[in-house]
Amino acid sequence: MADFADDRAVFHFDPMNKGLERAGPQPVKILSNNNQLPVSTHCPYCALQCGVLIDGEEGRSRVRGDGKFPVNKGALCMKGWTAAELLNHEERLLKPLKRNARGVLVPTEWNDALDVIARAFQSAQERGGRDAVGILGGGSLTNEKAYLLGKFARVALQTANIDYNGRFCMSSAAAAAIKAFGIDRGMPFPISDIPQAEVILLVGANPAETMPPLMQYFEEQRANGGQLIVIDPRLSATAQTAHLHLRLIPGTDAVLANGLLHLLIRDDWIDRSYIDARTEGFNAVKSVATTYWPERVERITGIPEASLVRVAETLGRARSAMILTARGPEQQQQGVNNTLSFINLALALGLVGRPFSGFGSITGQGNGQGGRELGQKADQLPGYRRIDDPEARQYIASVWGVGEEELPRAGKSAYRIMEALGAEIKALFSIGFNFTVSSPDATNVIKNLSNLDFFCAADFFLSETAKLADVVLPAAMWAEEEGTMTNLEGRVLRRRRTSLPPAEVRTDLEIICELAARLGKRKHFGFAGAEQVFDELRKATKGGIADYSGITYGRLNAGETLHWPCPGESHPGTPRLFTEFFATPNGRARFHAVRHQPASEEPDSEFPLYLTTGRVLAHYQSGTQTRRVEKLKGIIPQPCAELHPEVAKRYGLSDGAAVRLVTRRGAAVFKVKVTRGIREDTIFVPFHWGGRQSANRLTSPALDPTSQMPEFKICAVRVESFTTSSEISPEEENDIR
Ligand code: SF4
Repeated sequence: MADFADDRAVFHFDPMNKGLERAGPQPVKILSNNNQLPVSTHCPYCALQCGVLIDGEEGRSRVRGDGKFPVNKGALCMKGWTAAELLNHEERLLKPLKRNARGVLVPTEWNDALDVIARAFQSAQERGGRDAVGILGGGSLTNEKAYLLGKFARVALQTANIDYNGRFCMSSAAAAAIKAFGIDRGMPFPISDIPQAEVILLVGANPAETMPPLMQYFEEQRANGGQLIVIDPRLSATAQTAHLHLRLIPGTDAVLANGLLHLLIRDDWIDRSYIDARTEGFNAVKSVATTYWPERVERITGIPEASLVRVAETLGRARSAMILTARGPEQQQQGVNNTLSFINLALALGLVGRPFSGFGSITGQGNGQGGRELGQKADQLPGYRRIDDPEARQYIASVWGVGEEELPRAGKSAYRIMEALGAEIKALFSIGFNFTVSSPDATNVIKNLSNLDFFCAADFFLSETAKLADVVLPAAMWAEEEGTMTNLEGRVLRRRRTSLPPAEVRTDLEIICELAARLGKRKHFGFAGAEQVFDELRKATKGGIADYSGITYGRLNAGETLHWPCPGESHPGTPRLFTEFFATPNGRARFHAVRHQPASEEPDSEFPLYLTTGRVLAHYQSGTQTRRVEKLKGIIPQPCAELHPEVAKRYGLSDGAAVRLVTRRGAAVFKVKVTRGIREDTIFVPFHWGGRQSANRLTSPALDPTSQMPEFKICAVRVESFTTSSEISPEEENDIR
């Protein structure tokens, strides 16, 4: 084992502020930006990255919407305006924790914790080879952290096995966009284009709950006379605002898209000159579309032919239209094909690259966009470079000052890493990723985790996942660190530090650098702050698809609006992509013929209903943060299973009753919410909770073969009602009381 005792931490973060360090979860001291209060920064949660202003009094941060930031225009949702409550929350992790001989997590010193981690990684690699250490990164890490974590994996550990939470969020849309357009940027146009679109087809998206400030753009579009068509098995809060809601059978998205294309071709609504001039592969798609005649589509999707014709006609007649997808069609075993089928529609209509028109996917996680283009993904190097591209490897190796042959090849995707825990992977490092709540078939993941030799988690709170670690590192929160984020439009934003972390809490950047130093790679990780990391990131992305090289902290601090690609310091950035050409070798977008495949699990006599999962207004992702905010907890304290009245009647259930849902992977208990908003063949549950109320105890780990996205949106489920209290265990009762 290497001796790293002399190679201690080299990362010193902004020494000017040392004197201001706090000793614990005490009143927050607001740092001003050049003596100016409030400080302008961004909400820690979703990909809208709303601008917020932070000031405070009596030791508490106060958050309000930044009216000057053009994305949210001052609006925030309840998650955003309560975000600062967590900065001095009593459950903040304040010291590193280490599991003692009796298996209890007890406080330890940083040097001890970091030494233990470095030794454990080295030991795992001595026993199992370089790839025996796995790394999982969160979807809300800053660009700097995502970049540095990727470098840490490839340079400090030389493991191939790094992946990130965005695998569970955007990977299908990303893979489809790369196939069709040669570039993956969730929204290739600014959201300010939305109000000018005559028609918007929103597929499997519920921004009214997931990112409410986005709804102002749809409201403006309606006020301008535009039409909103929503495709969703649920009458979601967003669907309630639509002109037309297509409540399709879960898992039939591609049939619906092909059926619409069939009608557009039949009735000659397609844009033949655009297809000829800007695309390739249409004829193969056309012959597949001919097999999706309306009666067949109605039978498979449950959408009446008259509605299909109305949607096709509305799209066909529009002078401008957008097709926007989100997790509904994407989080399926057919997620890439589903997305491609809607891209086919957009291309056939000639929408992509036209004013106030196009195809986009609404990114979910805070930095789902930046996180996937800066090297945190199993098959990527910074700048959206492919790790199997010899030229890309050579370039990144030169930026990092290592030999190309030292860089690992592509590793396992997130769920494959979780499957390999305790087998090929012997030690794991996870940053801000509560994967025992957010991964499919969560019970199996927890079992695998228990077979590891060593597990280290860095987080703000002792999440369900961190509780299972051998060492837990207390990490700084969003308002306690500098950095950049990239929002759903590809707009790069400055996240500013507004308060200091508690005295013994460190930033993820510090943690990564200190660990790298202990692993003997100090010279590659000698950064003096986030800006220096960003400057290296700029160099690493230069010439890549996601080129950040022209973006600087100076430009962002001066208030410039910069969307990548931005290849030079005098370049204005690229808010709109595809206006002239696509990022494919011949500049043309590619159609892909898509045939419907059934979901990995369809209802049967044993499990007679569909189960689908999603988010609710008051909570974000695995709920590590939002479940600790009193106001949010008060609004939605626990998950409810949404059942159609006919289903509730069949099982003798009423509103507020307890129900156990069972799938082939396990069981979970919920309170019942009876609603006509859900299809009669489908149950909806939110996934923000762990333990016995974990929706992901139920979900299927079937993966899309291209994107490796799990099929969160569909599995087969059975309902078990409790007719007497003795049928429910005391633990279950405790959960749903
Ligand atoms: Fe934060 Fe998203 Fe809500 Fe905006 S919409 S306040 S970014 S959670």
